[in-house]
Amino acid sequence: MNGAAIARICGPAFNAVADIEVVAETGSTNADLLARSAHQARNTVLIAERQNAGRGRAGRSWLSAEGGSLTFSVAWQFHCPLHALAGLPLAVGVALAETLASLSVNVQLKWPNDLLKDGAKLAGVLIETRSAPDGAVWAVIGIGLNLHLPDELEQRIGRPAASAPWLAAMDRDALMAALLSNLAASLDQFGQLGFAAFSARWNRLHAHQGSMVQIVDGGVTVAEGIAAGVDDSGALLLDSAAGRIAIVAGDVSLRAQA
Ligand code: ATP
Repeated sequence: MNGAAIARICGPAFNAVADIEVVAETGSTNADLLARSAHQARNTVLIAERQNAGRGRAGRSWLSAEGGSLTFSVAWQFHCPLHALAGLPLAVGVALAETLASLSVNVQLKWPNDLLKDGAKLAGVLIETRSAPDGAVWAVIGIGLNLHLPDELEQRIGRPAASAPWLAAMDRDALMAALLSNLAASLDQFGQLGFAAFSARWNRLHAHQGSMVQIVDGGVTVAEGIAAGVDDSGALLLDSAAGRIAIVAGDVSLRAQA
């Protein structure tokens, strides 16, 4: 991939607000951008051709194969309190899903941070934050998206995963530019309007709407009920035996009940 070519396709409005860098290899693009955030002035996209220590939530790993995945992070500055970013992983999911749909790849969203294709994980989003000295907040938004899924990688993941051969056949720079342009527009919209601008769109793409699900924290089921979409803060609404409850993401995971 070529940062200058991606920037050219993204166009001047994108280039006015963010820089794009491509590296051949790194441990974690999120770790790299977080380390820079103390002295970072501009929004920055860091794309790794190969990422060998990709991170998921709660210390989990995001695995990828060179040439078979997109692994990148976007450091974006928000001028709002930290708690206002609670719905950001979901808004990023909406932005990615809408871009993929425009490229004829239909995905659904699994609360809080995954994109599913045919019920298996195609992409994951990990957001880590840092406060900036002027009261702003840096959100470092890590995205891993499977294009091909070699058998060896699927075995290492150890659970169902999806790939998108149609996207793998696209020009990589054009694919990255499509994802980044829409993402930047969505981050701008999120900064102005918050998650309320995304909740109905998220609910239209909800993989588990109306299904019985369990919420698991460290292997322990902490809630169960019928998934009823998300509210304007990004909390998952569950119709449980005790009535409707709202689950905030933290480190909990959703499991569809067999
Ligand atoms: P859960 O999937 O348990 O609900 P999560 O969605 O928060 O948790 P993340 O922390 O976002 O999971 O992602 C890490 C998990 O994703 C890993 O534990 C692994 O199961 C799975 N995984 C890792 N690499 C890939 C990949 N390339 N494609 C699909 N799934 C992957």
